[in-house]
Amino acid sequence: MKPCWNCLAENNVSELITSSETPAIKVQSGMNAISVDVEDYFQVWALSEVIKREDWDDIPLRVESATRTVLDLFDRTQSKGTFFTLGWVAERAPALMREIVARGHEVASHGYDHTKVFDQSSDEFRADIRKTKQILEDITGQSVRGFRAAGFSLDDRTPWAHEILCEEGYKYSSSVHPIAHDHYHAPDAPRFAWSPLKDNVAFLEIPVSTTMVAGRRVSCAGGGWFRAMPYNLSHALLSRMITKDDQPAVFYFHPWEVDPEQPKVSGLSRKSRLRHYLNLERMEGKLERLLGSMRWGRIDEIFPVKELQEAA
Ligand SMILES: [Zn+2]
Repeated sequence: MKPCWNCLAENNVSELITSSETPAIKVQSGMNAISVDVEDYFQVWALSEVIKREDWDDIPLRVESATRTVLDLFDRTQSKGTFFTLGWVAERAPALMREIVARGHEVASHGYDHTKVFDQSSDEFRADIRKTKQILEDITGQSVRGFRAAGFSLDDRTPWAHEILCEEGYKYSSSVHPIAHDHYHAPDAPRFAWSPLKDNVAFLEIPVSTTMVAGRRVSCAGGGWFRAMPYNLSHALLSRMITKDDQPAVFYFHPWEVDPEQPKVSGLSRKSRLRHYLNLERMEGKLERLLGSMRWGRIDEIFPVKELQEAA
């Protein structure tokens, strides 16, 4: 994937580009973006080696109560956020979707059932994101602008994905974690918000956060990294990105990460067990500290999602 700064300039939206040495999308200053990937604990990649897709309907949902824990946490810290939600979850918890909107947050799409984009054909992807957008909009009565790929599965295996998202009415994607990883691989993708489409510069890819340490990209995006690292180290990496790169943080986590009472699934590999269960009991407290230390808001309000659309 290549950044498309020149296309931005060609399309007369230069007033939305800052004049810093590295061109950047103009953002709401002093704010950072927080996002929640709304899926249940049994739908996570690390547990798929034991819990199959066909088992899901037999497992009691915990995502509603865990997401309400997140909503309360956001209220306590006066934060707003973006909730990337599975269509599968929204169908089973419509009242929760309406509550997220009523409490001032953005509802966006996380695909229907957590299928990785690089495991789909382009036609399957189109059908998935179209269906999910419709489900979320029918339930909330709000326009769905954003998309996040399950497991950041949008990389050089999916060169058609941004174009299809744009054609299906999405305004931005936040689907790239620009680091090397065992599941996804985007170590050379742009680290900051960029326009991936030549013929529609208003469509943005808004990657989750990384910073540079000793010439190497290090994730400070949230999730498992945030659970594993000492709080002070995570905070220092995020602060470094915000001040050195002059960019808002784009942070993410999941409702199941603030649900330490969730059933423990047996039969997992050591790596998956560690990845899923590490420090769950400390996550809510760490998040509350982080949310209280900076100002956090919705992706569609911090990045110029609406402004770029109007200018295009
Ligand atoms: Zn997910």
